[in-house]
Amino acid sequence: MKITDIEVIELRVPSIDEKCEWGEDAVIVKVFTDNGLVGIGESDTSPMVVRAIIEAPNSNLYCSGLKALLIGENPLEIQKLWDKMYWSSNYLGRRGAGIHAMSAIDIALWDIASQYYQVPIHMLLGGKYRDKIRVYGTFIPGDTPEESKKIARNLKAQGFTSLKFGGGVLGDDDNIDYEIVKAVREELGNDFELQIDLASKWNTYGRAVNMFKRLEKFNLNWIEEPILADDMKSYAKLTGVTGAKLAGGESLTTRYEFRDFLEFAQPDIVQPDITRCGGISEMRKIYDLAAMNGTKLVPHGFSTGILLAATVQFLASTKDGDLMEYSQSTSPLFTSLVSNLNPSKNGYVTVPDCIGLGVELNEDVIEKYKVK
Ligand code: MG
Repeated sequence: MKITDIEVIELRVPSIDEKCEWGEDAVIVKVFTDNGLVGIGESDTSPMVVRAIIEAPNSNLYCSGLKALLIGENPLEIQKLWDKMYWSSNYLGRRGAGIHAMSAIDIALWDIASQYYQVPIHMLLGGKYRDKIRVYGTFIPGDTPEESKKIARNLKAQGFTSLKFGGGVLGDDDNIDYEIVKAVREELGNDFELQIDLASKWNTYGRAVNMFKRLEKFNLNWIEEPILADDMKSYAKLTGVTGAKLAGGESLTTRYEFRDFLEFAQPDIVQPDITRCGGISEMRKIYDLAAMNGTKLVPHGFSTGILLAATVQFLASTKDGDLMEYSQSTSPLFTSLVSNLNPSKNGYVTVPDCIGLGVELNEDVIEKYKVK
């Protein structure tokens, strides 16, 4: 079997000159083979940049677009192809967007392998530890404490036993942050599992440590990305300041960045995104690194049903992977792009024994939002 073509599909809900909210654009990658199998992957990053990284012609031995490296190769040699892409995109890749693009292709290759061998991806990864995975719902808070209460109330009623909020106004003003956390905590009750995500907006150690202490009485499960992941010294100082665990890492790529983050930032929880960190292949290595460090891995995931399917297959194959993120985005790219989207029921998703990712793409949604 040989790879014959790679197609990059950019999707975007608002027009190109309007701003996107989280989850309103996406990039899908399809890998085609000479025996008719097609693998699907995605990356949660800038779609146009992924296209460029995949379609760029070769510049020199260390600087090649990914497609040129893969045409004619056997898609079943997944690790060998990962290494080839990493090595030969050295100048444009190694971290960041280069690895994001590789992630999409890696996921598509696992999709192909599962179809070829006719066993689920979790079996190829070593076996299934669980039939369902607990999920936490992520929502963007309303502008007022009352609006945030209402969203939290609805999600609790849907059966979630764990929730997180972030984005929107969170992180803009310390007093407003305090009021929103207070309100949501009041709404959910003191024992409900609740975490917040600052998307690095607290900026400095001094501000973050002050907020950790101010929010201590609200019994937060974790506080995510209070500051930029590059500021690993401050992360390390924030660990253990209060009972709230410290989480981060959604923007990091490869085992190398996670090795440093685990060693120097000492987070309680790492949150690689399978569509950014290097795909399923690299996620396995990051999981092992985290486990060796006594750190829990809770995958980040806030894009389409393709990401969701890949994350479920991976996490089911890990010994301790019993919690993952479940987007509450109302974007059609989350709700409708995959017509058989894995639903959350009573705070869990099931682990399907499907062949491949098992996602059915809604061609009408693709046609409607495709960037032409
Ligand atoms: Mg986050």
